[in-house]
Amino acid sequence: MKIRVGMGFDVHRLVEGRDLWLCGVKIPHSLGLLGHSDADVAIHALCDAILGAANMRDIGYHFPDTDPRFKGIDSRKLLKEVMTLLREKGYAFGNADITICAEQPKINPHIPSMQEELAACIGCEIDDISIKATTTEKLGFTGRQEGISAYATVLIEKK
Ligand code: MG
Repeated sequence: MKIRVGMGFDVHRLVEGRDLWLCGVKIPHSLGLLGHSDADVAIHALCDAILGAANMRDIGYHFPDTDPRFKGIDSRKLLKEVMTLLREKGYAFGNADITICAEQPKINPHIPSMQEELAACIGCEIDDISIKATTTEKLGFTGRQEGISAYATVLIEKK
C-alpha cells in the first residue's frame, strides 16, 4: 500500500456584510469571509491538502477566481469536485487534520457539525476528519480579527 501526504494553507479577510462559512457550516457572527466563492477558508485549505497529496496543483488552478462559474459557489461543491479528481487518479482518501486560526467567534461548539459536513462531502467516516481551533493570542492579522487562516494535512492511499 502506497500512502502519500499533503498540506494546505489558506487565508481570507473578514468583512462586514458577508456570511461566515467554515467547514461547510454557517456560523453566526458579525463578520464574514470575503472571497469569490463563499470563502470557506477551511475547505479551501483541505482541498489544497488533498490536491497536494496527489500532486494535482492547487485549488486556484482548478477553480480560478476569475471564472464566473465559481462566483459565490458553495465550497462543499469544490471539495466534492476535488474528491472526484482524487478518485480519478486512483487514490482513496485516508484522513484529514485541520486547524482553524480565529480570534472570534468561538469555533469549538461547531466542530461536530463541521466534521459531519466534511465527512458527507468526502464520503468518509466522521472519525477520519479532525478539526481543531486556535487563536493566535491576539497577535497578527488573525489576532486583530482582520481575517481567518486555516491549515490542513491529508493522507491518501494509492488504490
Ligand atoms: Mg481561498
